[in-house]
Amino acid sequence: MNAAQPASESYIVDGVDLVSLPKVSLHDHLDGGLRAATIVELAEQTGFPLPETDPDDLADWFVSSADSGDLPTYLTTFDQTVGVMQSAEALARVAREFVEDSVADGIVYVEARWAPEQHLRAGLSLDEAVEAVAAGLEEGVRDAALNGYHIEANQVLDALRQNDRALEIAKLAVRHRDAGVVGFDIAGPELGFAPSQHQEAFDYLAREFFPVTVHAGEADGIESIVSALVDARALRLGHGTRLLDDIELLDGDDPDETIAVLGDVAAWVRDRGIAIEANPSSNLQTGAWVGPFDEHPLDLLYQLDFKVSVNVDNRLQSNTTLTQELARVADAFEYGLDDLAVLTLNAAESAFIPATDRQDLADRIIAAYDLARAER
Ligand SMILES: [Zn+2]
Repeated sequence: MNAAQPASESYIVDGVDLVSLPKVSLHDHLDGGLRAATIVELAEQTGFPLPETDPDDLADWFVSSADSGDLPTYLTTFDQTVGVMQSAEALARVAREFVEDSVADGIVYVEARWAPEQHLRAGLSLDEAVEAVAAGLEEGVRDAALNGYHIEANQVLDALRQNDRALEIAKLAVRHRDAGVVGFDIAGPELGFAPSQHQEAFDYLAREFFPVTVHAGEADGIESIVSALVDARALRLGHGTRLLDDIELLDGDDPDETIAVLGDVAAWVRDRGIAIEANPSSNLQTGAWVGPFDEHPLDLLYQLDFKVSVNVDNRLQSNTTLTQELARVADAFEYGLDDLAVLTLNAAESAFIPATDRQDLADRIIAAYDLARAER
């Protein structure tokens, strides 16, 4: 099952190197994207015990440990990353490097999601933790601008679905909405922890008109997606892989023809433009998708006009980048540049920023793809 092996070493699609094309990263965990060398350095500073102390060995450890086939085991690898992210300095450094690595990946807009409640062990308050990440993101953005590269980096705050701090985190997010916190999410084990268990938080966010995305349809089925849509009023779905359960595929009149019949949930998601944050490599590691990569449901959803975007989930655990994920998807489903442009525009149109900013982002993407097509 080794999901972390690139399907192809090449990132060339239709004669264009994907690295340089502008990308939008919507589902990118701050605590799942650390550099292994940084983890080693931060652990040395605080005496935090690691399973491996050589950066290359540690990177391999993350991939193999995450290759577990179930979400709860996969999530245990975050004990190491969260363990070294307990001071303001560490959070700011990780956030700055997150932006630097995004720039190297050709990303022009990124939402870094993370759970502040996991970063209080050394005495930080929730607000101090959010401010530290904001400072790191801002520094990365400023440094990139000095080099002539424009990137926007915002935060999405996660509450852990197995805990009972969701209302507190929702209020934290709204408190920092003018300082780059643009969304709210719940993360952690999905099975047994439906969004409805945090009803007060989601009702509060709705009254504040604060955008919500929810991990749903990854490790649980359609009822979890229903709760994300109805109880949490989610505008986006993290993964959404199990939407497949609400789509019936029938044989058409022609031998090669397949007719898709959407149930009410799948139809709502497609027809209302609820964004799907697909994370194919991660899904192979956690068992959210047990088939081969080239049968991942993101292709069916894309063909059926769902608003699908391609995302990394956790670059460290999957040893990947957004460029590599897009290349893998292009390779698996024989997508060309036009498909990658649609997937990227879907992400831009789903970003938790004002409509005018989303349009600017889309214009930049369209211009870059046009230029790439003209120059090849
Ligand atoms: Zn995720």
